[in-house]
Amino acid sequence: MVYGNLIDGEWRDGDPFANINPSNLDDVVGEYARASLDDTRDAIAAASRAFWGWSLTTPQTRAGYLEKIAAGIEARCGALADLLAREEGKTLREATGEVIRAAQLFRFYAGEVLRTPGERLDSAREGVEIQVTREPVGVVGLITPWNFPIAIPAWKIAPALAFGNTVVFKPAELVPGCAWELAHLIHDAGIPAGVFNLVMGRGSVVGAEITSNPQVNAISFTGSTTTGSGILTTASARLAKVQMEMGGKNPLVILNDADLPRAVQAALDGAFYSTGQRCTASSRLIVEAGIHDRFVGALTEALASQVVGDARNADTTIGPVVDERQLAQDLRYIDLGKSEGAHLAFGGEVLSRPTRGHYLSPALFTEANNQMRVCREEIFGPVATVIRAANYEEALHLANDTEFGLSAGICTSSLARSMHFRRNVQAGMVMVNLPTAGVDYTAPFGGRKGSSYGSREQGRYAVEFYTTVKTAYVVG
Ligand code: NAD
Repeated sequence: MVYGNLIDGEWRDGDPFANINPSNLDDVVGEYARASLDDTRDAIAAASRAFWGWSLTTPQTRAGYLEKIAAGIEARCGALADLLAREEGKTLREATGEVIRAAQLFRFYAGEVLRTPGERLDSAREGVEIQVTREPVGVVGLITPWNFPIAIPAWKIAPALAFGNTVVFKPAELVPGCAWELAHLIHDAGIPAGVFNLVMGRGSVVGAEITSNPQVNAISFTGSTTTGSGILTTASARLAKVQMEMGGKNPLVILNDADLPRAVQAALDGAFYSTGQRCTASSRLIVEAGIHDRFVGALTEALASQVVGDARNADTTIGPVVDERQLAQDLRYIDLGKSEGAHLAFGGEVLSRPTRGHYLSPALFTEANNQMRVCREEIFGPVATVIRAANYEEALHLANDTEFGLSAGICTSSLARSMHFRRNVQAGMVMVNLPTAGVDYTAPFGGRKGSSYGSREQGRYAVEFYTTVKTAYVVG
């Protein structure tokens, strides 16, 4: 069987491509249909035709669909988590959390749409009333990366549908399985034909068409900074609304007064869980001199007790790298770190396991400095660098000395320092005594500088992107 694309309410075949399990390269998760340029155009045309009717449904009707989708995800939670772990390589525990998150997002936006904000103003003119309301934007193109195969699609699709938009969804090629299952659940919930369309396939074909087609009114993209900048140039030239979530090089500052076990846990989780493949990963550990050696010793010990293995084994704590290309990139950066003069204090070795997979031991560099490319460029793997700082002021300076600005963290027992850091670090999200990764769906998500562009995702803030404001002047 080939899993097809969903276009105008129908499942459509296409050129098949294989979805391979990174924990076991001999395991083919499934064959999925690659959408063609014509398929993509048909999906966009269908979304455009469906928009008017869908946009006029009541919020209660749309909330009902979202509730059904959430229930569908919950009912299949175990199978979806297993599929996620199998196609992406996240551990089962992490995969289960991600699936639950997807259901929570659909439930949250089912509630949000029932309280879509508006405003009434008194006019400066006698007898005139001003009403500020929100309307859907139109056809939205959603382009997602491989590292959160169900949560990122959910945090875009749920608000898009809730606020009355129609959707053309293009998942990353490495993870079509969760995308197809989600599309199936949306279809099964009875959503009218054309309101939601799935087009799996190449970024250069499907993604490029979504970006340039004038019938797509808005694009929400999550992925690398390079791809994002290209999309931004094309989409903004035709005045489409754009939202971009891109790379990170997130600092976690550890001060002398930090609770050591807590700081080590924050670094371990933030830098290495999900195999370090998170945009919010704590890839730069900036450590004050007085705690440096104790921190490095304790973190190295914690790394030695990690179990790198098949994502679906119960005792695995770090799954495989997602594919061969990403593994090659991780290894190139590990070589680069050594040649730049950083000290590889732990890991960085390709591991062999009973099945053929992309297994890499978590790599920790010490004696790094912030000018090294390993400290400036996003690696997107289980690789972290430790940079020594003389004091808090230098640590803050180093934290901000980056082109990115997604998430930043500090471990300290000083309320004053944590408050100073919270105010002065240049990042969209700040964590105090917590890993830089790990966020709530009820709160705004996004960054500054090279990490993000446009309005925030998630929480109540998603309404900014998925609606447009109308100001009405009314006299009776
Ligand atoms: P990527 O940029 O290679 O691909 C992202 C998506 O864009 C995929 O669906 C891809 O097919 C598509 N694409 C590729 N070329 C395109 C084109 N020319 N036109 C339109 N679409 C195109 O990213 P990836 O490797 O899938 O994901 C890893 C990256 O995602 C990392 O840089 C990571 O930091 C980032 N990311 C960011 C966030 C965030 O919220 N800031 C979250 C997760 C991942």
